[in-house]
Amino acid sequence: MILHAGYRPTREGGPFLAGPQFSSTYTAPGDPSQHDLTYGRFQNPTWTAWEEALRVLEGGQAVAYASGMAAVAAVFGVCLRPGDVVVLPADSYYTTRLLASDWLNSIGVEARLVPTRGDAQGRALEGVRLLWLETPTNPQLDVCDIQELVQAARSQGALVAVDNTTATAYLQQPLLLGADYVVASDTKALTGHSDLVLGHVAATDPERVAALRTWRTQHGSIPGPMEVWLAHRSLATLSLRLDRQCSSALKLAGFLAAQSPVGAVYYPGLSDHPGHAIAKRQMQAFGSVVSFDLATRTRAEQFLRGLTLVREATSFGGVHSTAERRARWGGDAISEGFIRFSVGCESPEDILSDVASALDRVVG
Ligand SMILES: *Cc1c(COP(=O)(O)O)cnc(C)c1O
Repeated sequence: MILHAGYRPTREGGPFLAGPQFSSTYTAPGDPSQHDLTYGRFQNPTWTAWEEALRVLEGGQAVAYASGMAAVAAVFGVCLRPGDVVVLPADSYYTTRLLASDWLNSIGVEARLVPTRGDAQGRALEGVRLLWLETPTNPQLDVCDIQELVQAARSQGALVAVDNTTATAYLQQPLLLGADYVVASDTKALTGHSDLVLGHVAATDPERVAALRTWRTQHGSIPGPMEVWLAHRSLATLSLRLDRQCSSALKLAGFLAAQSPVGAVYYPGLSDHPGHAIAKRQMQAFGSVVSFDLATRTRAEQFLRGLTLVREATSFGGVHSTAERRARWGGDAISEGFIRFSVGCESPEDILSDVASALDRVVG
């Protein structure tokens, strides 16, 4: 299904996936409402094919945006008005929290920060307009129960949006679990080649979808056709990439947990992870990111310098393994030695042997 999603019926001599369409304007005489294509900020056939593929994946109509943050901002924008309250995970993606504290607060929206672990957000819903979930969280990989929290939100009349970036729609489908919106940065594992920045929102209610499109048109947060086409091309290998990445990530997490220089290992696939049972229920597999603690900045830097195959780089979900000392960015409640490791599609033996020799370089 995913492999063919959004492809147009082939005609003889035609491509499987039509190339990107670069156009700011279209020949469209007379009444504009009589034309599907008029102006490049309103519609684009490359977006339409990609959004059709995302619809198949998500179980709801998708709207593509220029980046994950443009998608986050669109949901905030269509849901929240001055005087409203939004509950955000205290451990959610840092820029989402910054957008809330900078922009939402400045327009009179209160952002309540509550931890993901233990479904604590469900106990902070009084008077709330929007419950924002992120599971697993980035970078600490805490997990919450989407279905339970949707029910809690419903009983308080709150909407629910889930940032599904870490899992992707291949591993977890929040709309099918009752969420009103699913948001994702497609920069990460969904497209997986570290060559573009893109995002989307999907919803089942047609009025909400229309509002998301209007937001995109009015704010101009539109994706480029080239990025969208590359994303669509990359989607064909989504299951191959993620099956490999998730199985290698589980191996890596198990390996790390048995290494003496390593403190805590954070991976929902480990049976002692506090969210393991929930993750097992609501995810197909446990994702491509493994986080772990080397206690100090010096030790983390020794480890990163010792890697030869794995690159030191931010972001995650790509076919090439990467790792970084997350505290270099600030903003997360983590130790100076916290490593976020994104497991790629290399052979698992190569990844593990690179990690093992880098851990040998950690002294003191
Ligand atoms: C990266 C990320 C975003 C932002 O996406 P961009 O494509 O970088 O704008 C939002 N949420 C999560 C969980 C992310 O990891």
